[in-house]
Amino acid sequence: MSRLPSGVQPDYPLARLTTVRTGGTGEFFARVGSADQLVALIAWATDAGLEVGVVGSGSNLLVSDDGVRGLVMKLDKDLAQIERDGTRLHCGGGARLPAVSARAANAGLSGIEFGVNIPGTVGGAVRMNANAYGGELARALDWVDVATGSGIERRSPDQLGFAYRRSNIARGEVVAAASFALAPAPVEQVKATLAEMREQRKAAQPSGIKTFGSTFKNPDDPRAEGRSAGQLLDAAGCRGLRVGGAGFSEKHANFVENHGTATTADVLALMAEGRRRVHERFGVVLEPEVQTLGRLDWPGWEL
Ligand SMILES: Cc1cc2nc3c(=O)[nH]c(=O)nc-3n(C[C@H](O)[C@H](O)[C@H](O)COP(=O)(O)OP(=O)(O)OC[C@H]3O[C@@H](n4cnc5c(N)ncnc54)[C@H](O)[C@@H]3O)c2cc1C
Repeated sequence: MSRLPSGVQPDYPLARLTTVRTGGTGEFFARVGSADQLVALIAWATDAGLEVGVVGSGSNLLVSDDGVRGLVMKLDKDLAQIERDGTRLHCGGGARLPAVSARAANAGLSGIEFGVNIPGTVGGAVRMNANAYGGELARALDWVDVATGSGIERRSPDQLGFAYRRSNIARGEVVAAASFALAPAPVEQVKATLAEMREQRKAAQPSGIKTFGSTFKNPDDPRAEGRSAGQLLDAAGCRGLRVGGAGFSEKHANFVENHGTATTADVLALMAEGRRRVHERFGVVLEPEVQTLGRLDWPGWEL
C-alpha cells in the first residue's frame, strides 16, 4: 500500500485493547479523535478495499489469533467526550458507559444508572443494545450519530433496530456520538442507586479476571425452561471447565476467563465444548453473544 493516512499504524497488537487479552494484530490501526477524521478514514479504507472494524473497550470482543485484515479504529479525544446540555448528556461513541452513569449521577440526572456495571463504550453499548437490571438503552437514548465513508447520519432509537443484544449498526458503520435524554433527580438518590448496583454486581459476578462478560445469549427456547445460558452451562457440567488457558469461570458459568496464556483458539474450543454439552443434555442450541473481529475458525461448532 502506498502512503498511509496520518495516524494509521501497520501491524498493531489488538489483544491489549480487549478485556480477555487474546488475539493478533490489526493490519492497520488508528486512534480517531474527531468526526471528520472518522469519516475520512472510513472513506480511505473503503476506497482501498479494506474492511473497517472498530474496538470500543473490547469488553465483548474476540480478536482472531491470525489478526484482522483491514482498518481497525478506536475512538478517542472529541469522540470520547461527555458534555452536559441541560438534562441531556452528549457523548462520543468512545466515552465509557460507567463514566456516563457517574457523570449523570453527579449532575442529578436519572435514566442511565444501569450503565454503571457495563464496562463498554457508548458505541459498543448501542451496537450491542447493552442492558442490565432492566434498564433500557432505547428509553434513555435521544439520538445516535452513525458514521460511514459518506458522512454522518443521525438516527433515533426507533431507527436502530434494537432487539435482544442487537441493533442494525452494520459492520463498517461507526457510532460516532450519542445523546441521552435524562430526567432530573436528587443527586444522592442517583448515587445510592449506582452504589447498590455495584454491590449487587460484586456479589453475582467474578471481578478482576480477564473476560468478555457473557459468552452466550440467554436462549429463547422452551426446552431451556426459562434457564439462563449460565444456568444451562452449569447444569451441563461446564463450571470451571478448561481448554488450554481458557476456562468457564467458577463463579459465573457463562463467563470465560483467560487464566493467563489463553489464545482465541482456546476460547473458541471451550465455547464449542460448552455449546455441545448444553445441546446434548437439553437440546438447546446456544448462540454467542460475544462479537468477533477477523477471520475465525470455529472447530467443533457443528452439532
Ligand atoms: C465484566 C463484564 C460485565 C459485563 N456486563 C454486561 C451487562 O451487564 N450487560 C451487557 O449488555 N453487557 C455486559 N458486558 C458486555 C459488554 O460490556 C457490552 O456488550 C458492551 O456494550 C460492549 O461495549 P464495548 O465498547 O466494550 O464494545 P467492544 O467489545 O469493543 O465491541 C463489541 C461490538 O461492538 C462494536 N463496536 C464497538 N464500538 C463501536 C462503535 N463506536 N460503533 C460501532 N460499533 C462498535 C465492535 O466492532 C464489536 O462488534 C459485560 C462485559 C464484561 C467484561
